Amino acid sequence: MSALPAAAGQDPLPAAFAPRLIAWQREHGRHGLPWQQTRDPYRVWLSEVMLQQTQVSTVLTYFDRFLQRFPDVHSLAEAPADAVMSLWAGLGYYSRARNLHRCAQVVVQDHGGVFPPAAAQLQTLPGIGASTAAAIAAFCFGERVSIVDGNVRRVLARLLAFDQDLAQAASQRQLWALAQGLLPPSPTPADMSAYTQGLMDLGATVCRRSQPLCERCPVQALCQARSNQTVTQFPVKSSRVKRRAESWWLLVLKSPSLVPDGMDFWLERRPAPGIWAGLFCPPVLGSEAELQQRVPAQAWQAAQHLPAMTHNLTHRELRLYPVVVKVDRALVSERQAPGVWVNVAELAALGLPAPVRSLYQQLAS
Ligand code: SF4
Repeated sequence: MSALPAAAGQDPLPAAFAPRLIAWQREHGRHGLPWQQTRDPYRVWLSEVMLQQTQVSTVLTYFDRFLQRFPDVHSLAEAPADAVMSLWAGLGYYSRARNLHRCAQVVVQDHGGVFPPAAAQLQTLPGIGASTAAAIAAFCFGERVSIVDGNVRRVLARLLAFDQDLAQAASQRQLWALAQGLLPPSPTPADMSAYTQGLMDLGATVCRRSQPLCERCPVQALCQARSNQTVTQFPVKSSRVKRRAESWWLLVLKSPSLVPDGMDFWLERRPAPGIWAGLFCPPVLGSEAELQQRVPAQAWQAAQHLPAMTHNLTHRELRLYPVVVKVDRALVSERQAPGVWVNVAELAALGLPAPVRSLYQQLAS
């Protein structure tokens, strides 16, 4: 099984792939997404970062909300970190939000608020990897450069029957070089846009991870895996992420609010680096015994153990055990721990990890 296509002229694949993909995208691809209506690098960059590991349907809401609050790179660069994290809360992978904020600051400080127009320069910015840089450069500046994100790797691995292990960086680089060889030879900016979007659309809607719709595929006649009836064998990837289980005991401290009939909650900012760095969370303890040591004996008698929750991160399975304890707020002050008392209304403005936000929503209802 060959991973390398023969030279153009001998193998119909490199010459035929781009025109078919472009024609298909123009007729059958996705056209109505808000970030497709623009060549503004700020909007394209924002959408690309949000779309990393997050589905389009989820991104749509966040994208609009983010743009309303931060309509351009300057407003994002000037925003407090908490405001950015708060708007990101629920999208997960919070390092993306921190890098997004940092990147906006670098674009403003070092590039006069203008994104560099080439993939090679874009890649030097915080949080912009090779594929995101290629997407921005292709969509906004018509650069002849190929994206190769996870979806596109799957498409190309099947198309080329690429049998190298994509868990290896060297194989990823090899596939990238092959992707460059499939680009249209002298595209217009509109061609590059349709080609890049076509790769994304093909991976998302036709050449799906499971049950690919080969009979609807515009490049089925060129696809080596389909021809060999080996579609299910690609992509080859040896290592699947194994999640390590971890138990977190959440000390949910509450105290009567200064407003009548209200209740305040104690939250601490998560340390960096680490899981949920920079977000607000109840104090996290490694065991029930450790948690109990933080609680006055009398208050422990009335502690309320809530049902455990499971939250999956890329490398961790967090088992969360919330315990609600009512305390005198004087016993927990900002002088004793880096945190803050907030009421239910104030919670909405803070950056909270998704399971923590849902926990407090339950407590408030
Ligand atoms: Fe993917 Fe099937 Fe198209 Fe090949 S023919 S690229 S496996 S959808």
